[in-house]
Order: sequence, then C-alpha cells, then structure tokens
Amino acid sequence: MPSPRYWREIPARYRLEAARCGGCGAILYPVRRICPACRGETFSPVKLSRRGKVITSTVIHAAPTEFQMEAPYAMAVVETPEGARLMVQVADCDLEEVVPGTEVTLEFRRIRKEGKGGILCYGHKAVPVR
Ligand SMILES: [Zn+2]
Repeated sequence: MPSPRYWREIPARYRLEAARCGGCGAILYPVRRICPACRGETFSPVKLSRRGKVITSTVIHAAPTEFQMEAPYAMAVVETPEGARLMVQVADCDLEEVVPGTEVTLEFRRIRKEGKGGILCYGHKAVPVR
C-alpha cells in the first residue's frame, strides 16, 4: 500500500506546489511544517514552473522491483526557476543527454504501480527540451 506520507503529499505533488519560508525565504518542496533551515513555521504557497535545469544526474542500472522494467534510466535533481529542487526520473531521452545544465520540462506521468493490486502512482518526470 502507498504510505501515509504518499497520500498526504498528493495535492502538493500533483500541483507542483511548494512553500516559501517567511523566515528565511527558502523554497520547500515537498511542503513541510517546519523550515529545516531556520525552524520557521510561516509559509506562503509558491506554484512551481513546469520546467527546470538538471543540477546532477545519475543512471540507475539496478532498479528497485517496481522500476525493473525501465532500467537503465536516469534520475536527476532538477532545479526550477523558483529555486525548488526535485528528484525526478528523466524520460524520453538518451541517457547521455542528461547532464548538468540540461533544460527540462516537468510532465505529469504515471510513475509506477504499487503492489499486485496495481494502484497507480502519478508524479512528475522530466523530459529534456529539444
Ligand atoms: Zn526558513
């Protein structure tokens, strides 16, 4: 079963909503209750752009069971113009294409099925801009 955390994060994940800390201005994604940087507890919502730039990337050859079918695939840390960093799978590309600085768009896709019941988990994947 998807974890409670997964369900709690659904609205923010689906809408790409982050929070800007009122104390230090840090962008939190996913949204948290307390800012890890300054312990602040006041936030304003920030809607993230559906695009960003690859900061670092890595190729996964031995995937966890749910992703077995897709290995090898690239995972990247993508930074949006707002300064939020997301760890996402990179789709529709050659693995060598995914390097720091690569411009990507964030597309809403099916991520995986959970368990035998096949509950679908959705989220964002990055696709290089051509
Ligand atoms: Zn803060």
